[in-house]
Amino acid sequence: MIRAIVGANWGDEGKGKVTDMLAAQADIVIRFQGGANAGHTIINHYGKFALHLLPSGVFSDKAVNIIGNGVALNIPSLLKELKHVTDGGVPAPRLMISNRAQIVMPYHVLFDQYEEERLSHKQFGSTKSGIAPFYSDKYAKTGFQISELYDEAYLREKLESVLAVKNILLEHLYNKPQLSVDELFNQLIEWRDAIDPYVADTVAYLGSAVKEGKTILLEGQLGSLKDPDFGIYPYTTSSSTLAGYGAVGAGLPPYEIKDIIAVTKAYSSAVGAGAFTSEIFGDKADELRRRGGDAGEFGATTGRPRRMGWFDCVATRYGCRVQGATQVVLTAIDVLSYLDEIPVCVGYEIDGKVTEDFPATVDLNRAKPVLKTLHGWKQDVRGITDFAKLPQAAQDYVLFIEKELGVPVKMVSNGPRREEIIHR
Ligand code: GDP
Repeated sequence: MIRAIVGANWGDEGKGKVTDMLAAQADIVIRFQGGANAGHTIINHYGKFALHLLPSGVFSDKAVNIIGNGVALNIPSLLKELKHVTDGGVPAPRLMISNRAQIVMPYHVLFDQYEEERLSHKQFGSTKSGIAPFYSDKYAKTGFQISELYDEAYLREKLESVLAVKNILLEHLYNKPQLSVDELFNQLIEWRDAIDPYVADTVAYLGSAVKEGKTILLEGQLGSLKDPDFGIYPYTTSSSTLAGYGAVGAGLPPYEIKDIIAVTKAYSSAVGAGAFTSEIFGDKADELRRRGGDAGEFGATTGRPRRMGWFDCVATRYGCRVQGATQVVLTAIDVLSYLDEIPVCVGYEIDGKVTEDFPATVDLNRAKPVLKTLHGWKQDVRGITDFAKLPQAAQDYVLFIEKELGVPVKMVSNGPRREEIIHR
């Protein structure tokens, strides 16, 4: 059985906690896209960890963790993260890295920084971790697959031809120092030797695993609205954040993905630039950000303060649709307990007309939120594990969202800990 866990919004929906819960039951946990540019926070019996590249099954003693071919592999980040986990008392994880995954090169990180510097105030709010230059090169066919590190003559020759172009850009577009083939070659060989114990033909491995009926969890990063096709382009990431891409980024049959769990938070938050229709500002935003605390304040990887907003039914319904969600997890309802009334965004007004369908970016930029106000519950809801024991207004809030999304909300999360979850 293959199941995917993905974000319905901008990322930071609280996928980490849910993934950690589900990873504990999985035989195999796979990262299929993205890189070390985002991450999630996991709190379990070992302590609190920020994961960026490692699959969440690293805390389970039975799970095999796979970094799939679709991932942007930053080798020094991976090695650092492995150390962070084992230093924290977690047993050395069972890890496999696809030999078809490509490598984030040191110059990808540099180009990301230089390009944001060049764009200055027009920048996209990149995390500057090299992700956009990495995927550009992958699709321009000038990327480096892990498998290529094992043919040294081929590697050196390819480095010479790729760096010839990079050095022209460095010198003439960015006015920055040039790169040396020898230095980079030696660096890559050193990295190859460090990850060698984990490199494998994961497509062959997964082919057998599917036949044997193993429980496989595909772990998404970021969310629908950051997808390069369906997200708020160009304020998106550079690899698909959708469950459907899991088949490609891991090497699995698409029809085997039976369960698609979309995670959404009971309010909205986003990092970086781009339209954010239900955004709130000033004291209201500060208060929500502060109450969000763990859940709301800063990105797990970037440490950037988040932009805050009310729950957005239009964006989230669309986010669930493009994921093909079979169920929804609504997280962080505990954060809203201080409010007398809770606005939610139920429509977008664009040029005087109200729509409930999420528009493409140029129209989205003109959208104004149509808000509906629901009752608050003004009572701490942490510790409750039975839906019927939630205050009536909190139950109504969940039911309202479920109706708007048209997808069953099967879990409600009311705190950051693994056990703070209500199953319905
Ligand atoms: P991801 O980007 O979707 O993986 O987001 P994370 O898993 O990093 O979640 C963001 C933050 O929300 C983390 O600090 C979590 O501990 C916290 N969090 C997750 N679920 C809940 C919840 O139900 N209530 C509260 N208060 N915090 C939560």
